[in-house]
Amino acid sequence: MKHQPFEFLKKYSVRPVKHLGQNFLIDGNVIQNIVDGFNPGEGETVVEVGPGLGALTQLMLERGARVLGVEKDPKLRAVLEKELAVYGDRFRLIGDDILDLDFAKTFRQKKVRVIGNLPYYLTSPLIFQLIEERKNVDSAVLMVQKEVADRILALPGTEDYGRLTVAVRFFADVKRLMNVSRKSFFPPPKIESSVILLEFRPESEIKKAEVDPEFFLEVVKIAFSQRRKNLVNCLHHAQLVFLNKEGLGGLLGQVGIEPDKRGEELFLKDFIAICRKLQELVKAKPKC
Ligand code: SAM
Repeated sequence: MKHQPFEFLKKYSVRPVKHLGQNFLIDGNVIQNIVDGFNPGEGETVVEVGPGLGALTQLMLERGARVLGVEKDPKLRAVLEKELAVYGDRFRLIGDDILDLDFAKTFRQKKVRVIGNLPYYLTSPLIFQLIEERKNVDSAVLMVQKEVADRILALPGTEDYGRLTVAVRFFADVKRLMNVSRKSFFPPPKIESSVILLEFRPESEIKKAEVDPEFFLEVVKIAFSQRRKNLVNCLHHAQLVFLNKEGLGGLLGQVGIEPDKRGEELFLKDFIAICRKLQELVKAKPKC
């Protein structure tokens, strides 16, 4: 079956809703390339965030996948239910906010793959949700703003390198699959997009870092809380551990990091080493 997003727009008088980030994919080649990159297996259950008018959904269903779509807009849900009924129970819809989906409850011991052409406002909250739900998420192929992809993939010392880069890369391997022009959407968004692949590390690998994941995220947040300040000053300001600036400088020295370094100059492995040291102090702190 040929996909006809434009036809559906006309047939159902759909007016794209701005606050739900409705920029529908209309370029057949891009749709094909994304689904090729995702490569859904026959009979595999995949979760699609915001199927919209079903551009990606339909192609995945044609290839034999089972799709669980999570779509917030009731008008679009009605279109999808009607147009994709031919796929029977291989297509299921949840009328909900994706951020309310409890992956552990829904999928229990199973790991699923996630796909979505995301509304911009959802990008960071969804990525952090997937990090939290990583025990049930194998990988995700996501269309995001190009600038967000640049930030996640940035190298230390560059302007784009920040909290998002370090936080995401601790939990996942990330690749950019393609850049996508504004012209591939209706209505065209203001900025360019990229499709990224996030492959979540197995829990056993995360454990090898010997760092509590919540604590890691907290330290990374602190490190980038004031970009112009060095790490010692940020940590001192946050009062995460009971050390003065000299003590904090000494602690960084123990893992081979100069005390005047800023968060944006540190590699992922540096953050892990610093967290291990800080964690020891937090654990050793006497309880009142
Ligand atoms: N997948 C379609 C495509 O590629 O043409 C539509 C993508 S459009 C950029 C984003 C879709 O996400 C819209 O259908 C919108 O209604 C839906 N959406 C927005 N916020 C959502 C949320 N919090 N939870 C679930 N779906 C949401």
